[in-house]
Amino acid sequence: MRNFGIGIILILLLTLFVHVETTTAASGQTYEVGVNILHVREAADGDADIIGLLQQGDKLTAFQEKYGWVQTYYAGEPAWVAKHYLIPTGSTTTSSQKSMSSATASITVTESSVNIRSGPGLDYRVVAGTSQGETFNAIDHSGEWIQISLSNGQTGWIASWLTDSIQSPKEQKNRTNTAAQSSSIGSLSGYTIVLDAGHGGRDPGAIGLRGLYEKDLVYDTTSTIAQTLRNYGATVIETRTGDYYLSLDERASISNTHYTDAFISVHYNSFPVVSVQGINTFYSSDAGYALAKDIHSSLTSTVPLNNRGMGKENYKVLRNTIAPAILLELGFITNAYDLSIIQTADYQNQVADAIAKGLIQYFR
Ligand SMILES: [Zn+2]
Repeated sequence: MRNFGIGIILILLLTLFVHVETTTAASGQTYEVGVNILHVREAADGDADIIGLLQQGDKLTAFQEKYGWVQTYYAGEPAWVAKHYLIPTGSTTTSSQKSMSSATASITVTESSVNIRSGPGLDYRVVAGTSQGETFNAIDHSGEWIQISLSNGQTGWIASWLTDSIQSPKEQKNRTNTAAQSSSIGSLSGYTIVLDAGHGGRDPGAIGLRGLYEKDLVYDTTSTIAQTLRNYGATVIETRTGDYYLSLDERASISNTHYTDAFISVHYNSFPVVSVQGINTFYSSDAGYALAKDIHSSLTSTVPLNNRGMGKENYKVLRNTIAPAILLELGFITNAYDLSIIQTADYQNQVADAIAKGLIQYFR
């Protein structure tokens, strides 16, 4: 209890400090990440915990700056990044924004009750509300989200699928589309897929050989799958976009707030007996079974790991998801053979491709 008292005093001091800082800092400045991978930290300190990653070209808004660090929001929480890896973009048109602002300066809300958020994702806090028929000026976009200017002079973010704007996601797709993938086996255009990277943050998931965490491996795999499905034209929503904790209910509810066509939770397995190996696909409903069947057969005919079969399991994340839902166990990280395969880029790409083909088969 003594610690609790000290904590309160620290929080009070911190609040005072932060308040003083914000009055002098350049709040609202926007930046673009200028390095391949940028660590997002809990505090303005190179030793502070890493709570996520940003990639080159990602955009962020500064809420305050101090000692060479910029405070922004990441997954709805205040977070800090080192300023010298950032390129200021200002509020005027930059090269990456040109096509958007010249083509569609304004967007119209098409749904009845829509949240405007502080950043480009469902994890950001709600800063305002709007409703059907209202129009806004679009300033920028990030993924499927559009940054708009609000009447109070501030800016906010709105999901493009709740507006008449189809430009931002389209533009993104065109950029990443590779000609080879579109025609021969079909497309996922018009379908919304929710990808759920299991575990995260304080929940490492299974711990594999050499101390590898399941949460890290599934995050990499899910990112590869997301990119591939987008290349096939799908709208992809990732339940977590960094290393942070999400409850199973939150994962299901992210899916349930969209018109989701398929929900795929990605995991790696572990077992005390190191010889156990292979991949499983789980489902909990009839709709899930149909999806599991197509994806599991596509996976097992593509990847070199042992086929452990499909199974019905009453997993909470599957049960609480309205869309057809499956959970993939993509190999045992406690088995040396599986792990040696899992860690190759080839395997990641094979899995991603097999899932895309399984989905196309399923929607057919
Ligand atoms: Zn897991």
